[in-house]
Amino acid sequence: MRCLVWLLILALAAVIFLPLAVVLLFQRQPPLRISTDRAVRLYLPTSGSLQVLPLEEYLVGVVAAEMPARFGLEALKAQAVASRTYAVRRLLLAREGKGSHRDADLCNDAQHCQGWLAEKEMQQRWGFLGYWFYRRKVAAAVAATRGQVLTYEGRLIDAAYHAASGGRTEDAAEVWGTPVPYLRSVPSPWEEEAPQHLVTVVLPAAEVARRLGLPYKPGHPFILRPVASTVSGRVKSVRAGDRLLDGPQFRQLLGLNSTFVTWEQKGEDFIFKSRGYGHGVGMSQYGAAGLARRGKSFREILAHYYPGTALVPLEALSLP
Ligand SMILES: [Zn+2]
Repeated sequence: MRCLVWLLILALAAVIFLPLAVVLLFQRQPPLRISTDRAVRLYLPTSGSLQVLPLEEYLVGVVAAEMPARFGLEALKAQAVASRTYAVRRLLLAREGKGSHRDADLCNDAQHCQGWLAEKEMQQRWGFLGYWFYRRKVAAAVAATRGQVLTYEGRLIDAAYHAASGGRTEDAAEVWGTPVPYLRSVPSPWEEEAPQHLVTVVLPAAEVARRLGLPYKPGHPFILRPVASTVSGRVKSVRAGDRLLDGPQFRQLLGLNSTFVTWEQKGEDFIFKSRGYGHGVGMSQYGAAGLARRGKSFREILAHYYPGTALVPLEALSLP
């Protein structure tokens, strides 16, 4: 009889407390996680449409758009990690309601978010045979780094990159005003194949004056000299006539490839010699290609351009 009572009590406990325990266990908020299967909501400004696709699939289109597919496989892998890190940061911002798109996580405007190519656009870019070969190569680079992102002190980094540094990357503080420990100026002397490595542009003084908004009279030269340079040797500010311009402004007005520029005046002409292309912060893509050619791995490439960062799987991140 006593045995039966105990059995009844046990049965009651099983019926009431077990489900309660299960409910309580699963009521706890699951940790905020972005998985590699997470869908990316991609806005396409040219067609005004929205595409929803898995993160890793999205990255194939990004690497295809952002880096020449003929680059070494290790360079493409480094690009995949940088682009994945960038994308996940944007996904998290969108999730917190701080994204820059209303109903999307990212767009495919390279100037705003990251470039991205649809399959049709890859076919157009590479041709029939090229598509067969390069599509596989880019997908292999993404798959080989599946889910891997860069962190600094446990947080996702701002994985800035640019086409070519011209020999030395720039410190983020010089471009954006805030120092970032892993975006420091590092040497990048492996960019000889970059079409923008060293470019000479000759502009008549009258045209330089027009672009800079200065009055011009033939035979009356105006002042055009650098006032300060950045830690990497780029132009920080320029005295142009009675104007004082900052480096990026000067670059933009004259349409130069970068602020890594020197010049001289010969007669009525200015001869500008610019190095590299872009802001110069973070990973240089042509530098990455140069390192890959020298047998370096994507880990070594990333460690060089983002010093002090760690390569970790997304799943290991404890996100805020
Ligand atoms: Zn965007």
